[in-house]
Amino acid sequence: MKRITIAKGDGIGPEIMEATLEILKAAGAPLEYDEIVIGEKAYLSGHTSGISPESWDILRKNKVFLKAPITTPQGGGFKSLNVTTRKTLSLFANVRPIKSYHPFVHTKHEKMDMVIVRENEEDLYAGIEHRQTDEVEQCLKLITRPGCEKIVKYAFEYARTNGRKKVTCFSKDNIMKQTDGLFRKVFNEFAAQYPDIESDHMIIDIGSAKLAEQPENFDVIVTANLYGDIISDIAAQISGSVGLCGSSNIGEECAMFEAIHGSAPDIAGQKIANPSGLLQGAILMLRHLGEGEVAAKIENAWLKTLEDKIHTRDIYDAEKSEKLVNTKEFAEEVIKRLGQQPEYLSAVISERNEVIQFHKYERKTSKKELKGVDVFIHHGTGDAVAFGDKLKEAGTDKLELVLITNRGVKVWPDGFKETFCTDHWRCRFMTKNEETIQNDAIFELLKSVHEHGFDAIKTENLYYFDGERGFSLGQGQ
Ligand code: NAD
Repeated sequence: MKRITIAKGDGIGPEIMEATLEILKAAGAPLEYDEIVIGEKAYLSGHTSGISPESWDILRKNKVFLKAPITTPQGGGFKSLNVTTRKTLSLFANVRPIKSYHPFVHTKHEKMDMVIVRENEEDLYAGIEHRQTDEVEQCLKLITRPGCEKIVKYAFEYARTNGRKKVTCFSKDNIMKQTDGLFRKVFNEFAAQYPDIESDHMIIDIGSAKLAEQPENFDVIVTANLYGDIISDIAAQISGSVGLCGSSNIGEECAMFEAIHGSAPDIAGQKIANPSGLLQGAILMLRHLGEGEVAAKIENAWLKTLEDKIHTRDIYDAEKSEKLVNTKEFAEEVIKRLGQQPEYLSAVISERNEVIQFHKYERKTSKKELKGVDVFIHHGTGDAVAFGDKLKEAGTDKLELVLITNRGVKVWPDGFKETFCTDHWRCRFMTKNEETIQNDAIFELLKSVHEHGFDAIKTENLYYFDGERGFSLGQGQ
């Protein structure tokens, strides 16, 4: 027996969890459960992240968590429990298999069968945001080498373990050459280590358009957190079956499994919800636990139920469906079919257990040379020429002003008068003759900038790593 943690969540959560547990029991899944209370009740009893310290202890002990959807109360102060759980337990990979079930569930895309592997811990979701001037807010996009290596390796390992043929990377490295550039670079490094798996890359915008138009051309997609969040909802929606999708959140120690939909307060208590999304989460969990045989037994019975046109209200079609069932009845129909195989939809093979090797990250240090600094200045007037000429006087023996950009566009020297300027200026000071400096040269510069009457709000050091530039050039530089 394996002991896992469950949470029944809010809204339709308890109804779909009950149906899912009935099916797991009838299929002989060797599981025991510890239940924790999360979500609305926990938020309202004063835990701003929606979970109590005792529940964390249970999650950490059992390591595997099957979670029904929860309601996040409206209003400030409440943090997303999903984001908190993923980051606290280092669940770095969000894996969403998305399929269409034509002709049994209405879809525009009959041959869709893809898996989106989304990085789950970093990117803009680090949540590091600041207001810097009257006019400008900033959100830091953090992309790390260990984060990229872990998710990219996971995607290739997932493909190999699950008999998938191709991994496509989505990024925007033509614009974000450092952050997305690193993601793509790491993707290329790992692609070379998996010659048995086809690999390609698409810019996220055209990639998303092609995904919406021809999803049958995609197999496994690996991408950064925000892009993955958006495309996985698009993919689930166009498959015609948001209510049928489950997802896993995988870490080296712990894992969390869930439906992708929310707590559906509009139908809560009516006992008509489709339990399939959470059941798909449970099937992913069984594979993760090495219970591939039970997982396949349940999935095949579930496919057969769909094929027999026994449908809950969300997928019921008066012309195509045979029988409209409620949550409990749907579970009973799946249970009746345990041991049966689907006839039209592809049956699932029982041996397929997910035993994925995690990446062992090795930290490397480089030769780091400080060659300059970007000083960000809050300055109210839009006259870039006057501003630049005056700021130039703040240069020191070691550092000279070479460039000013506003929202990334060069405005000094030789800017265009047409360029609109906000009150947030990035002022690049570089060393003379490419000399390498220490931090004290920057402190001296900042003192001078202050003494010349400017409001420095932030700095970014400009480094070369092993001789390679570690910062982007300004547009027009
Ligand atoms: P939702 O997914 O709960 O509902 C969207 C629509 O889909 C509703 O019309 C609902 O009735 C329907 N629906 C959803 N699941 C269904 C199912 N299993 N069977 C039949 N119909 C189903 O999205 P929402 O209304 O935007 O969010 C409601 C609450 O859920 C919010 O508090 C939100 O924060 C939360 N939420 C939680 C999670 C999670 O816990 N993983 C995910 C998304 C949203």
